Amino acid sequence: MDRADLLALGRERYLPVYRPRELILERGQGARLWDSDGRDYVDFGAGIAVCSLGHCDPELVAALQEQAGKLWHTSNVFYSEPPLRLADELVVASRFAERVFLCNSGTEANEAAIKLVRKWASAQGRAPDRRVILSFRGSFHGRTLAAVTATAQPKYQEGYEPLPGGFRYTGFNDLEAVEQAMAAGDVAAILVEPVQGEGGVMPAAPGFLAGLRALCDAHGALLVLDEIQCGMGRTGSLFAHWQDEATPDIVTLAKALGGGFPIGAMLAGPQVAQAMQFGAHGTTFGGNPLAAAVARVALRRLASDGIAANVRRQERAIRDGLDAINRDLDLFAEVRGRGLMLGAVLKPEHAGQASAILDAAADHGLLLLQAGPDVLRFVPALNIGDDEVADGLARLRAALEVLFVR
Ligand SMILES: *Cc1c(COP(=O)(O)O)cnc(C)c1O
Repeated sequence: MDRADLLALGRERYLPVYRPRELILERGQGARLWDSDGRDYVDFGAGIAVCSLGHCDPELVAALQEQAGKLWHTSNVFYSEPPLRLADELVVASRFAERVFLCNSGTEANEAAIKLVRKWASAQGRAPDRRVILSFRGSFHGRTLAAVTATAQPKYQEGYEPLPGGFRYTGFNDLEAVEQAMAAGDVAAILVEPVQGEGGVMPAAPGFLAGLRALCDAHGALLVLDEIQCGMGRTGSLFAHWQDEATPDIVTLAKALGGGFPIGAMLAGPQVAQAMQFGAHGTTFGGNPLAAAVARVALRRLASDGIAANVRRQERAIRDGLDAINRDLDLFAEVRGRGLMLGAVLKPEHAGQASAILDAAADHGLLLLQAGPDVLRFVPALNIGDDEVADGLARLRAALEVLFVR
């Protein structure tokens, strides 16, 4: 089928919940993609921070192919080796967890975390009204009813009422507000992204996560970290919270964990590892051997010193490139984020123009994401090379010059 026919299928056959750019991607290699017309793109989006080792990494392909010839699926009624080994490797890598629940997406990992918090609170004998989960304005935790209720952004919730009860929102990076929100003593857990992703690439301020840990300890509450986007090496350490000196009770992972193959995980620390017993939760596909075989390789690679060093190197290169563009075009109020999770915040006079910039970038052979209407989001593969970063920045400059130089 040609491009026009395929685009028509997208318009007519998908639920109209997405509005993809009008191109059909066909093939990827590293941080480059090719569309159905053979045009090449530098990929600064990595499938929304998923393809952290680039597209079609040979070692990931080999792991998938090898497992595909052996065993695809067993369900959790039976064991198989890849998910068992992955669970063990996640526990060891995490430095805090004792047990792991494997699932298929970020939303499912957070849903599992929310349910684990509730089970733990009920086993503690906490009254139903003392099981509040506190989350932050600007957060994103996924799309099931519970996860979207934890997501403290009205645009994701509108029309889905009645939402589940027992959630409360407060201000990100505002410890005083958190203290007030916990004053009634009814909070069972705080759920927080160490770097908010969808909400505009907003890192926790120095001391914020440690402050949350202290408040949780004072109130006998759990600290749940959503590292679905910022974890797996993206910020320069395997777990983002390693830079914040706060030990969590629960961490959720997905996106980069499978290097492009769908998988999620909830990691549970000593306080909660046994709070869900036989029959309390489950999934048919979670811990799928194909996903687990790929994730084992991804985890080992993403935890390496080489990835951490490249994240620092390319963060510097992207920041320098954006600063240089900004000296000429004066578009960005700031560039914020950590590692290869960066957001260029448009100045107020360019508010709302992120989407138009993304269109122009795609026209110039660069795939970029936004994080809200005012922030350009840079989440490339963590092994992206110097040439691809330089090429991507040159394409971005060319696109911006078309839009903003006259
Ligand atoms: C993407 C994301 C999710 C949801 O993950 P899905 O795989 O889309 O369900 C949850 N939390 C954060 C921080 C995310 O970035």
